[in-house]
Amino acid sequence: LVDYQQILAEIEAEVQPLLGKGRVADYIPPLAEVDPGRFGMAVRLVDGTDFCVGEADNAFSIQSVSKAFRLAAAARTHGEAIWKRVGREPSGTSFNSLIQLEEEKGIPRNPMINAGALVVMDALLEGGRPDPGMEFIEKCLGGQPVDWDRFVASAECETAHRNRALAHLIKSFGNLTGHPDEVVEAHCRESAVTLSCRDLCRAAMFMATAGVTEEGVRVCSARQVKRLNAVLLISGVYDEAGDYAYRVGLPAKSGVGGGVLAVMPGVFTACVWSPGLNQKGNSLAGTKALELLTTKSGVSVF
Ligand code: GLN
Repeated sequence: LVDYQQILAEIEAEVQPLLGKGRVADYIPPLAEVDPGRFGMAVRLVDGTDFCVGEADNAFSIQSVSKAFRLAAAARTHGEAIWKRVGREPSGTSFNSLIQLEEEKGIPRNPMINAGALVVMDALLEGGRPDPGMEFIEKCLGGQPVDWDRFVASAECETAHRNRALAHLIKSFGNLTGHPDEVVEAHCRESAVTLSCRDLCRAAMFMATAGVTEEGVRVCSARQVKRLNAVLLISGVYDEAGDYAYRVGLPAKSGVGGGVLAVMPGVFTACVWSPGLNQKGNSLAGTKALELLTTKSGVSVF
């Protein structure tokens, strides 16, 4: 039997030298204020038992971790049709790159880079609700309302020049239905959702249980979840996907707030938060922590 509590204690000790290393995301001003030395981690088994260490109950800005939920929500409403508008190949480029989008005529390489996530948001907004991704997260939490940080959202929105450029470029190729400003604003609100490691593990449980929340509600089909996890494995951490598969061996989704969510189908969800980022925009200590989790437990998809 794997002793997850013991493993988390060892991980917390072993990542200490990395805490405070890395850079916080400074292109979103309030995120630049967060102490990069903070750390929390949670593991939640499919039976609902959880194990926590450090600041696992501190709510942080989930940022791009929300894109995993966003894609799941679109799988429900749009099914396979979403793949006409966005690809599912690794990008090999940074999360906010514009270059590929021009070359590939407005069809983003995958739904986890910002360009692709904006297209998925646009598709969800066709339903007429202002924050469809957030509503999906609430559903995954058994109806518990989620909060988003107005200050972070408006600061990002004011400085979202790259995301606006992406949205306009996509629109110019005819792959955006809504107004670029509306899509970017919804993206910023959803990115500003705050959740703790413990809550993210619970919200993501459907990704480990072939589509069923802890309350027993089916939010996705088993097939949709299989595909979501495949997309996370090839693109969830952008141009670090290969290294993640190699070192961690789990589908994962990161955010520039320093959170990383990882899924071991049939076994657990795991979430780590440490705001210092590496060159690829993924949590530096968080990546190490997940590597240690699969190494010490001997549990990974490989
Ligand atoms: N809201 C951020 C952005 O659009 C999310 C990016 C991220 O977390 N990688 O730039």
